[in-house]
Amino acid sequence: MTENLELYDVTILGGGPAGMYTAFYSGIRELKTKVIDAQYQLGGTLLYYLDKMVWDVGGIPPITGKQLTEHLIQQVNTFEPTIVLGQEIDDLERRDDGTFVLTSTAGDRHWTRTIIMAIGFGGLRKSVKIEIDGAERYENTNLYYSVHNLEDFRGKRVLISGGGDSAVDWANELEPIAASVTLVHRRDQFKGLERSVSNMKASSVSIRTPYRVEGFHSEDGVSIQQVNICHAESGESEQLHVDAVIVCHGVTYEYGRIREWGLGIGKWNLDVTDKMETAIPGIFAVGDFVHYGSKVMLIAGAFNDAVLALNSAKLYIEPNAEKMARISSENTRFNELNRQLGVVDDDE
Ligand SMILES: Cc1cc2nc3c(=O)[nH]c(=O)nc-3n(C[C@H](O)[C@H](O)[C@H](O)COP(=O)(O)OP(=O)(O)OC[C@H]3O[C@@H](n4cnc5c(N)ncnc54)[C@H](O)[C@@H]3O)c2cc1C
Repeated sequence: MTENLELYDVTILGGGPAGMYTAFYSGIRELKTKVIDAQYQLGGTLLYYLDKMVWDVGGIPPITGKQLTEHLIQQVNTFEPTIVLGQEIDDLERRDDGTFVLTSTAGDRHWTRTIIMAIGFGGLRKSVKIEIDGAERYENTNLYYSVHNLEDFRGKRVLISGGGDSAVDWANELEPIAASVTLVHRRDQFKGLERSVSNMKASSVSIRTPYRVEGFHSEDGVSIQQVNICHAESGESEQLHVDAVIVCHGVTYEYGRIREWGLGIGKWNLDVTDKMETAIPGIFAVGDFVHYGSKVMLIAGAFNDAVLALNSAKLYIEPNAEKMARISSENTRFNELNRQLGVVDDDE
């Protein structure tokens, strides 16, 4: 290697339920583990239903998506894997020695013996961009497609474009924090949850319908200071002064350049063997990304895939290793952790 890259046994692409449980199990099997996700938080699809109750995960009583995400994050950290967030991986290099180098769209590189793909159904969720020439130049300043930190908007005049769940939810979340919130939507009806829409209408959010955003004006060429909105029927234009613009025009799913890796991805999923093997030796796949005869597209199914894939990766790296991890009580990996929990081992 020409660069000072650190070699990992297992690199898991995707930090949703499948990726997180795979990383935990990889720790049990004493493999040096890294998890990479394009999002800035672990949780995968769970992050899109944080308030929903989840009833069907074995051994866990009804729990919100948020609580389940927190439990999974606590569990994944048990063996302290390396976690890399905010990196979209799109390139794969297979080296002569059988190892792989993964590269992100920003050029970050990761060196690994095996890869476990946990990239979900349909691949990466991407925001639909606003159709205004040159809008991308404001993405580094005050044009947002998602909200990572509510505090970024404290005391600001915020304009939100869109009429679905996200637009309405962000309007409600930001209303008590921002100096003002204006929601611009091209229709009079909203697609958001009825209760959220009623809350928004009863609040100080200024609702401008049927209007669409037709242009941005910048005095410094760096950030947006004014937004031109246009009445959908009369065509009449108006200028609004803003400090930040949030665009919520929906999402698309795409595998991007991962399709070119030679895995043989179908329209939505990837066919794998019963050992979670893909067409490329050393690369395994799990969770909603995969398809096989009896595949269960639920979190319970993702957990099962995780164990199978990780055991396959372990045997790929160490062909003489045990086929699966021992049960917790027979696994020395848990002795120290039991002590930390105050549990005394019978044999001691
Ligand atoms: C509204 C809704 C409600 C649901 N309710 C339930 C329920 O009650 N019970 C249940 O069991 N299941 C439920 N599910 C299904 C469950 O969420 C999925 O089965 C589960 O999330 C699959 O986990 P995963 O880790 O395979 O994929 P995901 O959770 O989709 O995670 C994939 C991760 O991979 C990352 N990724 C993708 N491509 C890249 C890339 N190129 N580089 C870096 N990172 C990448 C993504 O950012 C994402 O974080 C629900 C699903 C939805 C949509």
